[in-house]
Amino acid sequence: MASVELRSVEKSFGSVEVLHDINLSLEKGEFIVFVGPSGCGKSTLLRLIAGLEDITRGELFIDGTCVNSVVPAKRGISMVFQSYALYPHMNVYDNMAFGLEQARLSKPEIDRRVREAASMLQIEQYLDRKPKQLSGGQRQRVAIGRAITRQPKVFLFDEPLSNLDAALRVDTRIEIARLHERLAGTTMVYVTHDQIEAMTLADRIVVLNAGRVEQVGTPLELYEKPASRFVAGFIGSPR
Ligand code: ADP
Ligand code: MG
Repeated sequence: MASVELRSVEKSFGSVEVLHDINLSLEKGEFIVFVGPSGCGKSTLLRLIAGLEDITRGELFIDGTCVNSVVPAKRGISMVFQSYALYPHMNVYDNMAFGLEQARLSKPEIDRRVREAASMLQIEQYLDRKPKQLSGGQRQRVAIGRAITRQPKVFLFDEPLSNLDAALRVDTRIEIARLHERLAGTTMVYVTHDQIEAMTLADRIVVLNAGRVEQVGTPLELYEKPASRFVAGFIGSPR
């Protein structure tokens, strides 16, 4: 059974169709990267999976169940945004605990999960700080830590490195790869327009072009056998 499956999914905003006939099957535990130029529909596709946007036509399955009408909080999904999306008035601990309190977990269980995630991301020493007292890289760690505390089946990342400077980008990329190893069995879906991120992180890459899937394959497959000039150009292979 697929972890995430899209069947003939289309998305329109008003009369403008931005995703056309998307068919994808993502395996449990896989690291999938959606790559493609700005405006091709990557974020929209991720938001559909998260339930932040309604699907116009087609069906979305998570662990074999159609979730078209399931609210985001009940999909078993966590999402990390480019902009971190932390609550500015709450300290790091409360930012990480908030969703778990909403889900009515017990205080000891919340505490255990927050401290475990904080330790995994080496942010234990910042639990009392407000987001504005942290660097961009530290904020992104908090956002990732918060996502971990929900123990999602599927982890979604929307260009999580794009607000970081070059050195931090490499560190955080390595961190995310390590996280994938530690959270074995968690499906990761990662959006980027950066070829290097895609090639280094992905088990499989989905190349999107103008709202369509252009090719799906391992980094090596795309490099050696690009299905089109577009893929070759994007992946940087010599064809
Ligand atoms: P990407 O993340 O690949 O840069 P997006 O998914 O953000 O692309 O956008 C895909 C297309 O959908 C773009 O043409 C964008 O303008 C359009 N779009 C995205 N969100 C909305 C919206 N809420 N309303 C109208 N158009 C939108
Ligand atoms: Mg985007």
